[in-house]
Amino acid sequence: MLVIEDLRVSYGPIEVIHGINLAVNAGECVALIGANGAGKSSTLKAICGLVPARSGKITFDGRDITNQPGHAVVRAGITMCPEGRQVFPQMSTVQNLRMGAYIRRDADQAADLGRMMDMFPILRERAHQAAGTLSGGEQEMLAIARALMARPDLVIFDEPSLGLAPKIVADVGRTIARIKEMGKTILLVEQNSAMALRLADRAYLFEAGEIVLSGTGEELQSHPEVAKAYLGH
Ligand code: ATP
Repeated sequence: MLVIEDLRVSYGPIEVIHGINLAVNAGECVALIGANGAGKSSTLKAICGLVPARSGKITFDGRDITNQPGHAVVRAGITMCPEGRQVFPQMSTVQNLRMGAYIRRDADQAADLGRMMDMFPILRERAHQAAGTLSGGEQEMLAIARALMARPDLVIFDEPSLGLAPKIVADVGRTIARIKEMGKTILLVEQNSAMALRLADRAYLFEAGEIVLSGTGEELQSHPEVAKAYLGH
């Protein structure tokens, strides 16, 4: 579904992604793991048109989306649930959800709003509250629901558990598993490598802007280097 070939990303003169190759098949959950600064977020941002690819090619459903603007990438069927949630703080929960459906012109948006509130009952309780006043966990659920409002085929999660209490992290993990069961394809960047590898069908390990290891979630969980450096055992 998503194919990245020889992608290079630079900030000014400094190259931070050095020609990576990866693929995500339809229906898979694929995790990108690795230390801070290894290049995971920059890869996601290049897919979503938020930072330019210096060279290489990104294909989605057979269409070249390299260096397409963000709105075109959303129209192609990819939405991002960004690091730090990035809800619109002064808008209500419902308004944030409607923003997620901004590109849609079909008549089913109200029904989808109801479905999101069934899936995340706390969002119904907070429907008319300013999103900036929600707790971190509630904002994460809102950011996830907002991403789903675009009816994407591929959902990208950038550090969904960052800064959340352990109980809420477990809720986020269950939510991602549920979204996969709904038939969505998932690309996940997560500092919590244990959670990411449990959720992932396959994963890629990033180090200093390169992919140094890839395999199934289980293979990486039992890989001695990964277990020692990223799983703490
Ligand atoms: P993290 O988990 O901390 O987000 P990451 O693996 O996602 O780490 P990136 O955020 O992609 O890594 O960062 C890759 C490299 O690019 C790092 O060296 C980082 O300092 C650098 N970098 C990231 N964003 C910028 C920016 N806006 N300007 C300059 N350098 C940047």
